[in-house]
Amino acid sequence: MKRKIIVTGGAGFIGSHLVDKLIAGGNEVTVIDNLSSGKMEFIEHHDQDPNFKLVKLDMLELEKLKQAIKGADMVYHLAANPDVRLGAENTKVHLEQNIMVTYNLLESMRMNKQQNIVFTSTSTVYGEASIIPTPENYGPLIPISLYGASKLACEALITSYCHTFEMRSWIFRFANIVGERGTHGIIIDFINKLKTNPKALEILGDGQQRKSYIHVSDCIEGILFAVNNSDEMANIFNIGSTDTINSTQIGELIVKEMGLHDVKFTYTGGNRGWKGDVPKMLLSIDKLQKLGWNPSHNSKSSVIAATRSTLEKQ
Ligand code: NAD
Repeated sequence: MKRKIIVTGGAGFIGSHLVDKLIAGGNEVTVIDNLSSGKMEFIEHHDQDPNFKLVKLDMLELEKLKQAIKGADMVYHLAANPDVRLGAENTKVHLEQNIMVTYNLLESMRMNKQQNIVFTSTSTVYGEASIIPTPENYGPLIPISLYGASKLACEALITSYCHTFEMRSWIFRFANIVGERGTHGIIIDFINKLKTNPKALEILGDGQQRKSYIHVSDCIEGILFAVNNSDEMANIFNIGSTDTINSTQIGELIVKEMGLHDVKFTYTGGNRGWKGDVPKMLLSIDKLQKLGWNPSHNSKSSVIAATRSTLEKQ
């Protein structure tokens, strides 16, 4: 069935892959993006498609946002500032770009009587979880980054709007998503550092931070599968791979993929990369698996695929 769909943040890394998939499925897609970190080159291949439209808009502008989303059956809300590290330097950015933007979207939907929202949340809402793999019903949720706090606040706003105004939501808590068009994160950092100096790689922390990585193609499949197969008022799912890889191992894989030898690894020390970094993260994806979805990549193959596509584009 052809649907009218809004993708906020659709010019970004994950959003643009979602747009590709939704357009390929014959849907009518409007991207709302202020191009702060999103890029035209990620979406311009749809320019001539009558099912595609870009509205360049800062979602802090409530009235314009309300007009822009009118008539859509479904809103995929990905627009955010996703930089976890930034919160330690700038305490306002996640409040504005994540919480206020989400509030504006919910208000616009409420006023337009639009009901269906998909939200991209994060593993960082769990903080330093004592149960690993961490299931969706883990608690209490004690984020340790301002980014994690902002995403948890967004989740709470969304579920309470759903209850109060008869809306429905799908909330996805992602592990680390990697792949083509990635613009930030450990893979990009390591590749850039090694291009500058192919003899040495500085790794943040002690290199033992161990996390789950999942390829963006799996992430998109998982989202669409869950949206099509669940219909509670608030459907909350983790999306990740079923294993982990540590920072040193990622460094070794990237060195190999770049064809480098005798690279000296140095460590900045401590058990985390930065203030707010969660050193160990693995999400339980039992809930999605029981529904019938499985990722096709593990952490290692996700990192390798992402490294190759990044190197090809450079
Ligand atoms: P991204 O920075 O590539 O995409 C975010 C998009 O939102 C960009 O296109 C940006 O221009 C747009 N945007 C930001 N503020 C806006 C505003 N005020 N108005 C309109 N547009 C705005 O990031 P991404 O990695 O693709 O992340 C997408 C979503 O997934 C985010 O919500 C992020 O928090 C979440 N997420 C990402 C990861 C990951 O590993 N990449 C992990 C967990 C959650």
